[in-house]
Amino acid sequence: MKEAAFYIKLDSGKTQCLLCPHECKINVGKRGICHVRKNVEGKLVSENYGQVCSLHFDPIEKKPLYHFYPGSTVFSVGSVGCNLHCRFCQNCEISQTSVGDFPFLKEYPASEIVRLAMQRKDNIGIAYTYNEPIVWYEFMLDVAKLAQNDGLKNVMVTNGFINPGPLKELMPLMDAFSVDLKAFDDGFYRKITSSRLAPVLETLNTLRRYDKHFEITNLVITAENDNEKEFADMVKWISGELGKETVLHISRYHPMYKMTNPATSVHKLMDFFRIAKEKLDFVYVGNVLTKEGQNTYCPECGHLLVERLGYSVDKTGLDEDGSCGKCGATVFNN
Ligand code: SF4
Ligand code: SF4
Repeated sequence: MKEAAFYIKLDSGKTQCLLCPHECKINVGKRGICHVRKNVEGKLVSENYGQVCSLHFDPIEKKPLYHFYPGSTVFSVGSVGCNLHCRFCQNCEISQTSVGDFPFLKEYPASEIVRLAMQRKDNIGIAYTYNEPIVWYEFMLDVAKLAQNDGLKNVMVTNGFINPGPLKELMPLMDAFSVDLKAFDDGFYRKITSSRLAPVLETLNTLRRYDKHFEITNLVITAENDNEKEFADMVKWISGELGKETVLHISRYHPMYKMTNPATSVHKLMDFFRIAKEKLDFVYVGNVLTKEGQNTYCPECGHLLVERLGYSVDKTGLDEDGSCGKCGATVFNN
């Protein structure tokens, strides 16, 4: 447990958390919407500080990040809590609970996370993932500082629902982001995730302004956000605001948690893939193995650069510098 960053004290011992756009006003003894920030005697604390539920060496493609050190390994860590309540959450056991209600947490100092990450020579860094890392802010920051000092990369897998101030403080430390853009409709965000669209778009704009590496994942849910016009509008926004080189992962939904709609049809995913490819250079299809939508082709000459089968990655189309082996175009920055 550690005193939280980004909060103010109000009357009668109440606190207001300013970490995410919910800006919860929290009475003494109560928690915010995320279940892990609590008002203890007029002080806001991060209850999940150092409380770890999962530690794994994962392929970077699993985050998903396809254009950040393709084929590498990243040490992935997570805790409990989330500031969203998505009805389709695949990690609801950890995201929708509190520290006291989850019996499998183990406390780690920040330095131990970094020491464990350094054990594998092929590991590029640390990914803050599984639950929502925004609500693990203080611990993530402490780990990320040590990791950066030791030459490791820091990666966030996030819903992007964070206030601009805390996001800006992360900029010098984070190297890459995998951001969910769950829909292009504020009504969906409110009804299905208990949050709002505008702050997520603002986060994406900030990442572009800071020239950060980020990739977007859009989970297509049957009869919820699978409207073709809405999807085309989202792609147009991504291309216009963030650039046509922005990487988009279109991901297949399966029934989970409170959502019972049938799994997304592969036909629908492939239609969306083709719509997105009209405006974006790099579009992938995830959560299902398809013939199209797995590989990376050079946007300049069409040469096959990276071939993927599940998490196995073949980079033979790249030259030694990581540029296109045929025309020399720079596609990956690392
Ligand atoms: S981080 Fe948690 S407590 Fe803070 S505003 Fe967001 S949901 Fe509320
Ligand atoms: S943002 Fe992610 S972790 Fe949080 S509830 Fe939604 S799907 Fe689950």
